[in-house]
Amino acid sequence: MNKKTRRTPQKLAIFEFLSNNKNHPSAEDIYRALSARFPTMSLSTVYNVLKAFQREGLVTELIVDPEKSRYDAAPQPHHHLVCLACRKIADVERDFKIDLEPSETNGFEIVRRQIDFLGYCSACRSDKKNIHNRRLQNG
Ligand code: ZN
Ligand code: MN
Repeated sequence: MNKKTRRTPQKLAIFEFLSNNKNHPSAEDIYRALSARFPTMSLSTVYNVLKAFQREGLVTELIVDPEKSRYDAAPQPHHHLVCLACRKIADVERDFKIDLEPSETNGFEIVRRQIDFLGYCSACRSDKKNIHNRRLQNG
């Protein structure tokens, strides 16, 4: 293992947190969760570690939340259900056989396939129903 990929306790903790957290946390979420354990760790350290993990192919950056990048350390290819209201991201474990014809890709080499199913999670759907019902009640 070279210097670049040396595992510090902070790096290990960040990877462990990401691996055990199914909510696809942002860098801020990771920072908040670990800063008590590593008081000297800064938010930019978290970003740098995440970038290094991405370069090593251990972590994927999800660009489904326009506010902030979310991160995923699940090793198998998978897809996501993305709530447009609360920005919850849930895994879809099914392996879809999706492909494009060479005529559609113009020499583009596909290295990863990821489908985002956009919509509203059950919690947000019942919230919306409640808001709608309250409006009806209040006339
Ligand atoms: Zn939601
Ligand atoms: Mn995921």
